[in-house]
Amino acid sequence: MELYSTNNPHLRATFREALFQGLPPDNGLYMPAQIPRMPEKFLKQLPELPFDEIAYAIALALIGDEIAPDALKEIIQQTITFPAPVVLLDNTTGVLELFHGPSLAFKDFGARFMAQVMAHFNPEGERDLVILVATSGDTGGAVAAGFYQTPGIRVVILYPSGKVSPLQEKQLTALGKNIAAIEVDGTFDDCQALVKRAFLDEMLREKLRLSSANSINIARLLPQIFYYWEAYKQVQHFKRPVIFSVPSGNFGNLTAGLIAQQMGLPAYHFIAATNINDTVPAYLAQGRFEPKPSVRTLSNAMDVGNPSNFARMLHLYGSTWNIMRTHVSGFAFDDAQTRAAMRKVYAAHQYVLDPHTAIGYLAWKTYQEQSNSEAFGIVLGTAHPAKFQEDVSEILQTEIPLPPALTQLMDKPKRAIFMPAHYESFREWLLSACP
Ligand SMILES: *Cc1c(COP(=O)(O)O)cnc(C)c1O
Repeated sequence: MELYSTNNPHLRATFREALFQGLPPDNGLYMPAQIPRMPEKFLKQLPELPFDEIAYAIALALIGDEIAPDALKEIIQQTITFPAPVVLLDNTTGVLELFHGPSLAFKDFGARFMAQVMAHFNPEGERDLVILVATSGDTGGAVAAGFYQTPGIRVVILYPSGKVSPLQEKQLTALGKNIAAIEVDGTFDDCQALVKRAFLDEMLREKLRLSSANSINIARLLPQIFYYWEAYKQVQHFKRPVIFSVPSGNFGNLTAGLIAQQMGLPAYHFIAATNINDTVPAYLAQGRFEPKPSVRTLSNAMDVGNPSNFARMLHLYGSTWNIMRTHVSGFAFDDAQTRAAMRKVYAAHQYVLDPHTAIGYLAWKTYQEQSNSEAFGIVLGTAHPAKFQEDVSEILQTEIPLPPALTQLMDKPKRAIFMPAHYESFREWLLSACP
């Protein structure tokens, strides 16, 4: 697999290089140099293929000979360990539930795949690879679960004390083994600053093999392509055009769908669904990309004012607004509309939407009405409602039970190293804890 930087098409990297670098040296984003088209035969077979075989075929087409077929098969087997069912709400609407993994959000797919490929490329007999992650809550949980018990890799997660939910804190601190949690007496920005300084610390880097699990790493994007095919498989018998509505923040998930379409997935259209952080819907409407500071909302995993994957989206369409608009429509909704949609769907279908998925639902229904669409809409269910238990149970006035695996996690003790937001303390701890 060959990748290029969105800042310079001549700057190339292999998959392995892009995986460990995260970002190209010129601060662009890595994009596949070629997007392979899946053969007709694959589309014909699709209805009979299980999810892991679909994922393997897509991964093989993308990654090519950089990973041996047997090893790739094993990586996929370790990644696709939970299903992605499309649950029907009505005759023309389904929710693609991407939240049956350990952290209850779609980010589990990306984190698991990344852990597996890193372990695959990690040379044997070397010192452990140390992954540093600063988190405001969400990403850290997926990374912790994804890398848990991966041989040769340690994960050090920094989170701001008192600023993550009780469930998020348990996801970061209760696993143990190769996952260490540092509870920083400070803000998320302090956590991020500590991680940045460690990466710039040459002396430290001579002693430790450091890497990151950044959300813009291409290895987190690729596995998100798999489930668009898996979803299409489940609804193609309706014989309607298929439209994907994607609740979006940094737009990694939507970008993966657009790549799937260029690989030959018969997706008719895409919907970029956001909360009031509407930079991309505004771009689609007016042709101007104007990043702005993010605003806090109920769907807080989508509170992004300057979406990092927008550069990738542009590259898919030769940076042409008119072309992007033929593939993607944008809609934005506020918290009051989100709450109303959650109540309406619960009353009509006894189905509980989390606030993020609710925005995808609203966007699909708005599009369907405005364009009199005959299509089947697949709303990406990005999080389990139990992940936002307090908000959801208050909005719907009903108890939202935790899945059993998480109840078990909640009963485990919290293990975290409490630390001031002070680089020397962090550095000293790293050197003593990571031999
Ligand atoms: C991360 C996240 C999103 C946004 O996904 P992007 O790929 O950043 O657009 C949406 N919903 C939930 C629940 C998330 O955790």
